[in-house]
Amino acid sequence: MTAIATFATRKSTFAGGVHPSEQKHLAAESAVEVLPAPEQVLIPLLQHIGAPCTLAVKPRTEVAPGDVVGQADGFVSAPVHASLAGATARTAMVTLPNGRHVPAVPIKAADSQPLEGDALWEDIFGGDWPTEGLDVYRPQQIADAARAAGLVGLGGAAFPTHVKLTPNEKKPIGTLLVNGCECEPYLTADYRLMIEAPGPVITGALLARRATGASKVIVCVEDNKPQAIESIRTAAAGAPVQVRVMKTKYPQGGEKQLIAAALGREVPDGGLPLDVGVVVINVGTAAALARAVVRQKPLTHRIVTVTGSGVRRPKNLLVPVGTSYRTLIDHCGGLNDETAMIIAGGPMMGFSLGSLDMPVTKGTSGITVLSAEDVWRPDETACLRCGRCVDVCPMRLLPTKLALAARAGNVELARRHHVSLCMECGCCAYVCPAGLPLVQLIRLGKVMVK
Ligand code: SF4
Ligand code: SF4
Repeated sequence: MTAIATFATRKSTFAGGVHPSEQKHLAAESAVEVLPAPEQVLIPLLQHIGAPCTLAVKPRTEVAPGDVVGQADGFVSAPVHASLAGATARTAMVTLPNGRHVPAVPIKAADSQPLEGDALWEDIFGGDWPTEGLDVYRPQQIADAARAAGLVGLGGAAFPTHVKLTPNEKKPIGTLLVNGCECEPYLTADYRLMIEAPGPVITGALLARRATGASKVIVCVEDNKPQAIESIRTAAAGAPVQVRVMKTKYPQGGEKQLIAAALGREVPDGGLPLDVGVVVINVGTAAALARAVVRQKPLTHRIVTVTGSGVRRPKNLLVPVGTSYRTLIDHCGGLNDETAMIIAGGPMMGFSLGSLDMPVTKGTSGITVLSAEDVWRPDETACLRCGRCVDVCPMRLLPTKLALAARAGNVELARRHHVSLCMECGCCAYVCPAGLPLVQLIRLGKVMVK
């Protein structure tokens, strides 16, 4: 592998990557709106990386927002909570955007909710957020609060947060990176959070610092978000938190790319950030951690961007977990006639949807609706051996070889070229002039190797 010195560059960025059209202007100026309580939510019992939850409620049980409906038994797991007041129904199977079929708890909303509109926003993000005196919380207490609140990475990875925060004597943490890059085109949920509620982001960052024992906290924001940088800087004034402006490039928000860019360290193949003394959490996760620790409230809502030229009124919405994609699209005025593709997440790493009857999970950062013009790609031809996919791969893989191995069903070849290291960022497919479905083939190669 290449030495660290060549992996990180002097411009605080990382090797490889692309500059796709950002398209953030569609929703960037849209202040977060609180979605009116939907008639029903569907709470999947698996919304994270790790073991599924076990059912904790019977059908026809009255629940309040925050009540546990799925209990986490394993260490790498996270409980799930009711996001509405209402009555449960019998568990149903639901298909998530990644194709997994999981059981889910339906909750029919009560006639009125304890908190709605501005009051709900205030309860989640409003009020004072301390930046001092946080040493009253013990490190293990912070990790335990994250677990009890069902916190997972809200940037999309959905890895249980308490696992990252649990102190590990063998691998001391020196730096906590708070990821505010939001490098996926179109998405603006983290951007709006940093502008409208920077207080809990900073409090959560300081709590995560205390839990991990990190001596340094750096909030990383790309240079295409000056308003967010200013807002975070103001909220962090006087606190031991640095704000680092990163060069805008996709996938700057990938954990390994962020560590390389911000710190010049290379996470070893197959390793984790903690192997190089780093923990990375998303800005949304930091805000949810602040609420979990300071207010003892679980994760029941998240900000979702609904955007793209195929939706009539792009917006950023604060929504209860479990709300259907259809409800969100309807609230944004519905689909345009030119709609060609609906994606869970952004266009680079998201999953194309076959149905809108899917629930928002903790990891749902956005819904991107594209028109036919947006999704145009060249007709597929044979590989031109141009090498562009290799140049842009941030993991320094050979995408063309991986695709070849997958097409040929050659497990050994796929393994030899480290298919499992692919982060599915989509950079290779984005630049391929032959229109090859590289990411789909690589996903197939990963399954073959597993
Ligand atoms: S091979 Fe994987 S990591 Fe490399 S550019 Fe393609 S999708 Fe990204
Ligand atoms: S970018 Fe496409 S055409 Fe060029 S080498 Fe890679 S797979 Fe082949």
